[in-house]
Amino acid sequence: MAFGQPRIEFKNNAQMRTMHEAGLVLSRALDAAVAAAVPGVTTKHLDDVFAAVLSEAGAKSNFLGYHGFPATICTSVNDEVVHGIPGGRVLQDGDIISIDGGAIVNGWHSDSARTVIVGTADPEDQRLSDVTQAAMWRGIAALATGSHVGDIGAAIDDYVSSVPGKPLGILEDYVGHGIGSEMHMAPDVLNYRTNHRGPKIKPGLCLAIEPMLVRGGIETAVLEDDWTVVTTDGKRSCQWEHSVAVHDKGIWVLSAPDGGAEHLVPLGVTPVPIP
Ligand code: MG
Ligand code: MG
Repeated sequence: MAFGQPRIEFKNNAQMRTMHEAGLVLSRALDAAVAAAVPGVTTKHLDDVFAAVLSEAGAKSNFLGYHGFPATICTSVNDEVVHGIPGGRVLQDGDIISIDGGAIVNGWHSDSARTVIVGTADPEDQRLSDVTQAAMWRGIAALATGSHVGDIGAAIDDYVSSVPGKPLGILEDYVGHGIGSEMHMAPDVLNYRTNHRGPKIKPGLCLAIEPMLVRGGIETAVLEDDWTVVTTDGKRSCQWEHSVAVHDKGIWVLSAPDGGAEHLVPLGVTPVPIP
């Protein structure tokens, strides 16, 4: 580990099982928000739908009040990359929106994001979302098969650059992270290949893996609301994210009801429930 790097919090199985509870509540809340994302509704409506599921489950939001953030989800539409604030914006046919949320159960956090294309999809937007989601699963698979955290970004990068057709950009300004007793913890999880191998992958490591891809350049800017991040060229962007646990029998995707089996088994990785 390099000097100045914060210490990684390694979780025991009981702690990771509680994180799984937080992940399952989050998954249900995202299901509801995704189902509600249709033309004509406001992004505030999606926040209300998401918040209601958390509240019914007795879970807390880790987004609400985070450095003053005013909502339980981030809704990032079209050229908005991340951290969009839900409000009066009305979703239009063909919009691409990423919905990023989190939940806390008994002090343990989850964090996950999905992208939805509202109404009729532009094929290039659909491709952007499909490639971003597939890249996330490649990164998650690398957590099972790799030895260091850097293997995740390498797998994501290799996959994205291998996809035929117009090249897509991988954002570098925002990255994945460790998660546990707080939402954002060490280590950083880069979505691209570097010369640094990063920390070793060991049981108890829990990471939020969240590639963000763009149809144009990777340069971003923050709007005057101090939150919303946009692409400076106005091109559309996309984010997918899951929280994943490493335990001594394998990996388990905490924010997917099936632990990620549907998408990981075809990649040669069988997720194993936390003992
Ligand atoms: Mg997130
Ligand atoms: Mg995250």
